Amino acid sequence: MGERIVMVGGGIAGLWTALALARSGRELTVLERDPPPPETSADEAFDAWERKGVGHLRHSHAFLARLHILIRDHYPDLMADLLAAGCREIVFADNLPMALREKYSPVPGDEDMTILTSRRTTLELIMRRYAARQQNIRFVTGALVRDVLTEKDEAGNLRTTGVLVDQDGETKEWPADILIDAAGKNSQAIEWLNAKGAGITEENERAGILYFTRHYRLRDGVAEPARTKVPGAGDLGFIKYGLFPADNGCFSITLAVPEIEMEMRRAIVRPENFDAVCAQLPGIASWTSPETSDAVSRVFGMGELISRWRHMTNDGEPRVLNFFPIGDSVIRTNPLYGRGCSFAAIAAEALRETLDKTDDPRERARVYHARLATELRQHYDDMVKQDLAATKRARNALDPDYKPGLKARLVKSFAEDAIMPAMRGDVDLLRGFMRSFHMVDRPNVWLRDPRNVSKVLVTWARGKKRNADLYPPKLGPGRKEMLTSLGLSPTADSERLKSA
Ligand SMILES: Cc1cc2nc3c(=O)[nH]c(=O)nc-3n(C[C@H](O)[C@H](O)[C@H](O)COP(=O)(O)OP(=O)(O)OC[C@H]3O[C@@H](n4cnc5c(N)ncnc54)[C@H](O)[C@@H]3O)c2cc1C
Repeated sequence: MGERIVMVGGGIAGLWTALALARSGRELTVLERDPPPPETSADEAFDAWERKGVGHLRHSHAFLARLHILIRDHYPDLMADLLAAGCREIVFADNLPMALREKYSPVPGDEDMTILTSRRTTLELIMRRYAARQQNIRFVTGALVRDVLTEKDEAGNLRTTGVLVDQDGETKEWPADILIDAAGKNSQAIEWLNAKGAGITEENERAGILYFTRHYRLRDGVAEPARTKVPGAGDLGFIKYGLFPADNGCFSITLAVPEIEMEMRRAIVRPENFDAVCAQLPGIASWTSPETSDAVSRVFGMGELISRWRHMTNDGEPRVLNFFPIGDSVIRTNPLYGRGCSFAAIAAEALRETLDKTDDPRERARVYHARLATELRQHYDDMVKQDLAATKRARNALDPDYKPGLKARLVKSFAEDAIMPAMRGDVDLLRGFMRSFHMVDRPNVWLRDPRNVSKVLVTWARGKKRNADLYPPKLGPGRKEMLTSLGLSPTADSERLKSA
């Protein structure tokens, strides 16, 4: 008999892991607290699929290129199902600034920078149906895991032996040789294990933003607005915005507000304020205008967004054996980067390879967590660094007395007057940047190439005036103008900060 593999959670990480292990011929059982998706359409799944276990189910989602490549290369039939259900591929050329589009000619590798996007309910519904068709994956729904069963081996190591599950009004033990925790960001497995002496530590950092998403449907007979010079995603400092084209005539808009912007974050959850903000952002206004689309949801808000890395080994020595956390339960990232699902899928491949490589429990734990660090840590660190800088900028923007020092001015100028215009004027630089963004390359690899550095420095040296054509168009009004237009006080947050 093969090893009994039990997985807690059948969300995104659970699905990728189930598919990866099934590809190696393993059998596994997925214990999922929520009901299965409805049998019918993507629209019904969006309206009716009850997912108490995934609070962010109805926030905008896109799969980055790294994940698109994985589906394309390993699950072509799943890709066909996703596309048939209306999921969209957004290719590298689609996101080029207008000026570069005219000069662009594709090179090998550009096909590796395609995003897959749709409502998350549609992505998950199709993946779930596909996984359910695999003979060696068994889903048990309505199964709420409420504890982890453990024992100590002869050498005194803690190891998991199964879980305690509530199902059909009964509590029962579910034995497992290998336990995979894919229960997401609110998984309690680590707390349960620590209560049994595991000593698992973690580091975390606030993402510094709150997320607000609203869904829309194009009106009958109306096509998606043509792309313009103003991008569909941008950062105004006091607000970041993103347009997510989705399946079946739907799209969503996400607005991210720095935590420190109390006035805006309180107001924006009201649909009339959300739409009023969208109407003032030229990159999305034509999409949300009542002539183009109807809003089909309330504004979904989400706070308490943190990035978190859990340390499952101590100096390379595993804290728990036979236990493999995956997805948000072990590494959580700021949703703004759209990386969580890709992180989960990369980890699923790492787990598959680890289990195939060795039967030794200690070696398995070591190899798996070392692989996570090798594959994901640089991307995680780069994100946390950027988030801390963005949080600092948001705070400084509210301080009327703030005067940036020389270093801060140089860093700002390098980003805004060197890197950004250089990328907007040179498709190779943009390509390099996007490859890192999509985790096809390591972070900032493109900036280590001396030819690229020289292009960036030459752009910087040319000065703002001669680079005028390379700056993006205005993304929207300033903070004061936007807050005033919503009937909010533009100074209330600064006053609150001063008196704090
Ligand atoms: C607002 C927001 C927007 C995001 N946007 C993107 C994006 O655009 N692109 C991207 O790649 N990532 C995005 N992410 C991150 C991504 O959603 C997560 O990384 C991903 O969902 C993690 O998958 P998971 O399986 O670990 O957790 P989940 O998808 O949350 O799944 C956890 C599963 O475990 C089940 N479960 C939980 N507890 C139990 C229990 N005790 N017993 C049984 N079952 C249980 C739940 O019901 C659920 O099905 C976003 C995240 C947020 C918060």
